[in-house]
Amino acid sequence: MIDTHAHIYLKEFDDDRTSVIERAKAAGVKHIILPNVDTETIQAMLALRNSDPLFFSAAIGLHPTAVTENYQSALNEIEQQLNTNQYCAIGEIGIDLYWDKTHLKEQKIVFEKQLEWAIKYQLPVIIHVRDAFPEALESVQKLNCKALKGVFHSFTGTHENAKEIAALGGFKLGINGVVTFKNAGLAKTLLGIPLNNLILETDAPYLTPVPHRGKRNEPKHLIYTVKKLAEIYQTSSEDIIKKTDKHAKQVFETIIFATD
Ligand SMILES: [Zn+2]
Repeated sequence: MIDTHAHIYLKEFDDDRTSVIERAKAAGVKHIILPNVDTETIQAMLALRNSDPLFFSAAIGLHPTAVTENYQSALNEIEQQLNTNQYCAIGEIGIDLYWDKTHLKEQKIVFEKQLEWAIKYQLPVIIHVRDAFPEALESVQKLNCKALKGVFHSFTGTHENAKEIAALGGFKLGINGVVTFKNAGLAKTLLGIPLNNLILETDAPYLTPVPHRGKRNEPKHLIYTVKKLAEIYQTSSEDIIKKTDKHAKQVFETIIFATD
């Protein structure tokens, strides 16, 4: 299994990170993508990636909830990092109007700038959207670039949203523990969406799947999302893993796997 989205470099894992990684490997996780959040998280993320570059890849970007009026200096730092050519993707980037709507204008500027970098540096993007799907879609459509690809991470939208994403060409939906939540309705939405469009993620430490909901999430819990998808698509867990691995490699072409 490939966990295409986990923040296990965060302080929530400082006490037991080594065991978390061992448990992930024992559970069948063979690669983890570490998306950045803000300028404060870069060093911890890189240290973890450098500890095992065959098992981890890092993505660089400025998260929408980290955008303020003074976004320019943060963007400069992100671009400096990009120029070091050690990243598999740009992310996570996007628009988030759930926590705070005051910086919508700045969030859009920062998102679109990073989308332009993705085209310039030929890297996929990891997009975070919360309560802002029309705004985020508009920004991606505005670029009108067929070469742009990536993932709408933690997809919880409608069937219509999924179709709009598919129409962009190179984008997948990142599916995590939310699919196991009874009240989320995502499992029902997925019934009308081809498995071809999906990749796996945990978003650890967040969004822990049932039966561990409410506790800290970690990559080994990916298996609960796999089992739920196997149920939805009426196939085996092995088939879900094989196909979502293939889709993840289509998006994140540069990642190298120890077991390949
Ligand atoms: Zn995230």
